[in-house]
Amino acid sequence: MTYKTLDDVNLAKKTVLVRVDINVPVEDGQVTDDTRVRRILPTLEAIFDKGGKPVLLAHFGRPKGQRVPGMSLSVVGGTLESLSGHPVRFASDCIGEAAASAIAAQETGEIVLLENTRFHAGEEANDPDFAQALADLGDIYVNDAFSAAHRAHASTEGIARLMPSVAGRNMAAELKALEGALSAPERPVVAVVGGAKVSTKLDLIGNLLEKVDAVVIGGGMANTFLAAEGKPVGKSLCEHDMLDTAREIAARAKQAGCDLILPVDVVVAEAFAANSPNRTVPADACPDDMMILDAGDETVALIARRFESARTVVWNGPLGAFEITPFDRATVAAANKVAELTTAGKLLSVAGGGDTVAALNAAGAVDRFSYVSTAGGAFLEWMEGKTLPGVAALG
Ligand code: AMP
Repeated sequence: MTYKTLDDVNLAKKTVLVRVDINVPVEDGQVTDDTRVRRILPTLEAIFDKGGKPVLLAHFGRPKGQRVPGMSLSVVGGTLESLSGHPVRFASDCIGEAAASAIAAQETGEIVLLENTRFHAGEEANDPDFAQALADLGDIYVNDAFSAAHRAHASTEGIARLMPSVAGRNMAAELKALEGALSAPERPVVAVVGGAKVSTKLDLIGNLLEKVDAVVIGGGMANTFLAAEGKPVGKSLCEHDMLDTAREIAARAKQAGCDLILPVDVVVAEAFAANSPNRTVPADACPDDMMILDAGDETVALIARRFESARTVVWNGPLGAFEITPFDRATVAAANKVAELTTAGKLLSVAGGGDTVAALNAAGAVDRFSYVSTAGGAFLEWMEGKTLPGVAALG
């Protein structure tokens, strides 16, 4: 898809409306993780370098169209000011007089931060009048919030239809990485799909089957596939009502020429608890009174060989119950293998989804993947092959 970026536009003396994701965690009035604020800094610097005045549009929490004092974006102002090194002027509303007067008073080098867009019901309803009221505030729109792009809201979609619109630095980097991984990837492509349940990943697996050369199924959802093959799964997490669906997926994979890779050995434990007594058994030998909590070493070796012959890896979901030791072993070993091959220049690797980022962080592999998306829902919808409204509106 084609879209313009900050490199394609002249911003001198322009008021630049920038949609960002600064929905940071806050406790007792303090920002406890400023990652999302740090991430917008390159876009802000690019706007300043080009002589523009950035005006930030963002949501914060879920106030559902009401003005909720505890969900005011003013709490992020101090962090933004100290990390960016630019003064921040806060406007107590994102449209109307409060917003317009803050923007009129904005000096060169200052950032204007507008109040939570979700204080207005028009935001989530993508109300055309509300989108127009936002658009009236500036000259050009920059969307830098890939993580909010799966929602057709006024500040992510409606506004982009009303004024010149471009992708910010994060948005452009995210789109480039994702397109490299699935739109026109170097083959072979191996997808890793793990996590708890097949039912939440049906669309995702369905889309991948058509696009990649192999799908590695891991985590609790692999149990459903094993059970569909008639293998015993004991007390494991397993969706027994999804066995036909699992068989259909396997048949579709075969038809599409995509290898579905299931565990050949599994780690079984007595209970879903850290250090629960456990052992590794073949994938068809889970005892009745035990549960599968991880993939075994042979499976990891099998997956590693697939990674070695691949050029691209896309990853969503852990291979086991990675939050509890020692059932993080397969996830950590496989993640490190991908990281190693990526660092050696042999692989392009893209991963995303909430638990995936946590799992790769635990493995210490995040910085060694080509790209790790922190955009949970938007990343999943993209992996499912869906059009993201906020991205489509930039085209
Ligand atoms: P998801 O949110 O679908 O990506 O699933 C992630 C969750 O699946 C994590 O909390 C894991 O602990 C859990 N999980 C992975 N493998 C298993 C398993 N074999 N049994 C139970 N839970 C698992």
